Parts: sequence; C-alpha cells; structure tokens
Amino acid sequence: MRLILLGPPGAGKGTQAQILIEKFRIPQLSTGDMLRAAVKAETEVGKKAKAVMDAGELVSDAIVNAIVAERIDQADCANGFILDGYPRTLAQADAVEAMLAERRLKLDAVIELVVDDKALVGRIARRAEQALAAGQPVRKDDNPEVFEERLREYYKKTAPLIGYYHAKGLLKGVDGMASINEVTQQIEKVLGTAA
Ligand code: AMP
Repeated sequence: MRLILLGPPGAGKGTQAQILIEKFRIPQLSTGDMLRAAVKAETEVGKKAKAVMDAGELVSDAIVNAIVAERIDQADCANGFILDGYPRTLAQADAVEAMLAERRLKLDAVIELVVDDKALVGRIARRAEQALAAGQPVRKDDNPEVFEERLREYYKKTAPLIGYYHAKGLLKGVDGMASINEVTQQIEKVLGTAA
C-alpha cells in the first residue's frame, strides 16, 4: 500500500499515519520529522532547512525530493509506505510520480483530510499544550504567527495538489473534523480495507 496523506498543518495527518502504520505494517515517511532530525543532528541539510522551517515556509523541493528518494529505497519500504507532509508542491508531486515510475511502483490513493481552518489554530495550540504537559519540547513552528504562515504556504503551494490528484482519480476525501477513530474508519472505508 502506497498512500499520501494530504491536508493543512494540524489536520491530523501525523495522528492518522501513526494508526495506519500499525494496521498496514508499513512505515510513515514524514518529511517534517526527517527534516527536524536533520536540524537536530546539524547535518548540511539541517543547517539549510532550519531558518526556513522556523519561519513556517517550505524547504526547497530539491532537498525534500532527495530525502524521500533515498528513504523509499530502504528495505522497510518494500511493501509500501505512507507519505505524511510530502508532496507539498506540484513539483514534488511530479517528483513522486517519476520516483515511483522509475521503480515500477504506483500510488494506491491520496487521502485528503478535509478540515475547517478556524478549528486548526485551536488544535495547534492544544498540541503545544499537550507537548508541554508531557514534558516534551514544543515545536518552534507551533505558535500562532508561524502557524498562519504555514497555512498560507499550504493554500498557495499544496492545495493545488487536490486538483492534481483528483484528475488522476486518486483523491479520496475524508472528514478530518470527525473524531480520530471516525477518521480512521472513513480512511479504511475509502481504501476498501475496512473489516
Ligand atoms: P510538518 O511536520 O509536516 O508540519 O513540517 C514542518 C516543516 O518542515 C514545514 O513547515 C516545512 O518548513 C518543512 N517541510 C516538511 N515537509 C516539507 C515538504 N514536503 N516540502 C517542503 N518543506 C517541508
């Protein structure tokens, strides 16, 4: 199973990916997590990405495409993967298509988590509170100002992917405002994997 989770920041892509990796026994490939790891490890990629991420803007297509191309060749991706937060631009979507075609692989579906923008700001604030309460570090980009910028980037650069994948017959929309369990059930239904 090769899936893309699409939706604005705070839509629940990461939460659903965590549940789906257990069900399908395939890894979650989150470019956000990979970039944060690179920043922490102070690699060349991390040094280039840090300021851009802190500002809520998008890291260059070349950087993220290279990270993903390398990752999907690892053994744990042999049976599939869930792309979370990638692709985020039309150029990245074209890159995924080329990467998969080169490997004679295909996408099974693109799941769009459809959410209400206004509710997202509250979700992000709660995510920051929960991280604090659990003694975990709060993401630097989980504050209202940077979040607004991340949302603008989403509508400018990522939302066009909805039409792109719809035209390919791959887009499946689910109501991202429903409870976590209900969203998972809807995803299983659209994928035809519900018990
Ligand atoms: P996320 O954890 O998916 O919200 O990503 C956090 C940040 O990492 C984003 O705001 C971007 O700065 C960067 N990032 C993650 N994935 C991508 C991507 N596919 N393309 C460009 N930048 C990305």
